[in-house]
Amino acid sequence: MESASTMEPLTECEGFDQLGLAPAVLATVQTLGYETPTPIQCQCIPHLLDGRDLLGQAQTGTGKTAAFALPLISRVDLGAGPKPQVLVLTPTRELALQVAEAFQTYARNLRGFHVLPLYGGSSFGLQARALERGVHVIVGTPGRVMDHLRRGTLDLAGLRALVLDEADEMLDMGFAEDIDWIFEQTPAERQVALFSATMPEAIRRVAHAHLRDPVEVRLLAATETVDTIDQYHCLVTRFHKLDVLTRVLEVETFDAMLVFVRTKIQTLEVAEKLAAHGFNAEPLNGDMTQSERERTVERLKRGRLDILVATDVAARGLDLERLSLVVNYDIPTDP
Ligand code: AMP
Repeated sequence: MESASTMEPLTECEGFDQLGLAPAVLATVQTLGYETPTPIQCQCIPHLLDGRDLLGQAQTGTGKTAAFALPLISRVDLGAGPKPQVLVLTPTRELALQVAEAFQTYARNLRGFHVLPLYGGSSFGLQARALERGVHVIVGTPGRVMDHLRRGTLDLAGLRALVLDEADEMLDMGFAEDIDWIFEQTPAERQVALFSATMPEAIRRVAHAHLRDPVEVRLLAATETVDTIDQYHCLVTRFHKLDVLTRVLEVETFDAMLVFVRTKIQTLEVAEKLAAHGFNAEPLNGDMTQSERERTVERLKRGRLDILVATDVAARGLDLERLSLVVNYDIPTDP
């Protein structure tokens, strides 16, 4: 799959009216006040409208839901009968509800359009009745979707598109085999879009098994590092971390430096120990007043201080010209 797929460059696009959405969908987007498509929308919408398979790396908050919902709604055939045409699989019921609501909103100008969320914990019978009446789009968790397929209350013979949303989460939750099984219940000629915040090997395997010549879209989040930054990691036991850090500092030439630790207490401990080793280090944490923090950062900027030991919360948004080295003393919890 990798050789066949194409990596699309991060392109800006003019506006929603350039993307080829159905007029009723475009009208909704405009009444919602969305002015310009987000980068992931620019990259995904034309391909999904073309019927291409798509492998997208994107996080929540990037406009990902609209990136697949708008084109797939545009392709729904309202007169095609009661069988679902689009299935979105999500890891959790909360996400299923959220995505179903988004579909409902984006399709509000389409008369007779129906979307149904399917998740465990809500009445099977009610869901079955809604399915019988006919829906165009289903958004569900793998477990409940399988239940309906097994009991014959859901028939995917008319399915045109399948979306895996937050696929890495679904695999982490142990849904890999369920997903494979659901794929087996769909027609061969369906379109597939797989979205995942991360692209580990397991996701590539799913993509390889189920996607056909996918367009690959990767959204560089603003928080991702650029290639002018060299990155290294050291595997050390907890007890040797400080030793290793001081040794790195002895051999590495740096101007100003930031050490990230997880807790406020650690900012004090690590700064103190570095100072004991002769380094010019001070803590930066949320217990300090705003003016104390500003003074400390100012000293670093002016070269009176070389090392700040900070929690990521305290250091958020710092802009430091002198900064030449950053150490994650603890593995960050937030990528
Ligand atoms: P998502 O990444 O799908 O969770 O979307 C994040 C939020 O952005 C949602 O509340 C959307 O309503 C909103 N949104 C999506 N696309 C756009 C856009 N092009 N312009 C403005 N807001 C948007």
